[in-house]
Amino acid sequence: MLIRSLKGLSDLFLHQNCPLCDRSAPTELCTSCWRQIQQCAQAQPASTTPDALVLFAWGDYRDGLKQAIAALKYDNNPQLAMPLGKALGHHWQQFPIQLQRSPLVVPIPMHRAKQRKRGFNQAELLARAFCEQTGLPLHTTGLIRRVATVPQFSLGLQERQQNLAGAFALGPAFLRRPPQRPVLLLDDIYTTGTTVKIAAAELRRHRISVCGVAVIARTLFETEGKDR
Ligand SMILES: [Zn+2]
Repeated sequence: MLIRSLKGLSDLFLHQNCPLCDRSAPTELCTSCWRQIQQCAQAQPASTTPDALVLFAWGDYRDGLKQAIAALKYDNNPQLAMPLGKALGHHWQQFPIQLQRSPLVVPIPMHRAKQRKRGFNQAELLARAFCEQTGLPLHTTGLIRRVATVPQFSLGLQERQQNLAGAFALGPAFLRRPPQRPVLLLDDIYTTGTTVKIAAAELRRHRISVCGVAVIARTLFETEGKDR
């Protein structure tokens, strides 16, 4: 009985309409919207940030991809993390970063109060889908967010750094036993890199190696960033 009702729920979930255009969709998105999102994908996913981290981005933060990330975060569509995270994972499999040891994936954490309000941390859901696709190990509490910060998009560069200072702390499991593998941070978008820089600094302060950050999309212009 329980199994049947769960099945009923999953059918309901799978046959809902596409959250971007409201047409009926066989999966999380309709084929037309998914095609538009794929047009934002980058041919060369890896570059280096000013802080000497590898930045691995699936796409540009524009058009269909920008719309999909907004629908995921601000319009309560956590199911969109699955196709987006898997696309990032598929890209990683096609263009792997050469490392001596395969990395451990750590999503950028969200403050508890904010996560309670939103119901989920999109970076964590994306990391789960990414790891499901790549087989890389996931550690969702490698970092924790100590401070509830104001949204980054409202701030200048210097204010962004001040806003995030001390925002991250090492999670208890990493404190007890620091990982031997390098950490690959994972977030939804990369804007100015302030979040990643401060998260990486916290890990490195504890002598944990950070190889880079994987994101669904990188912004083309700083002003287009929303809060990362
Ligand atoms: Zn659609």
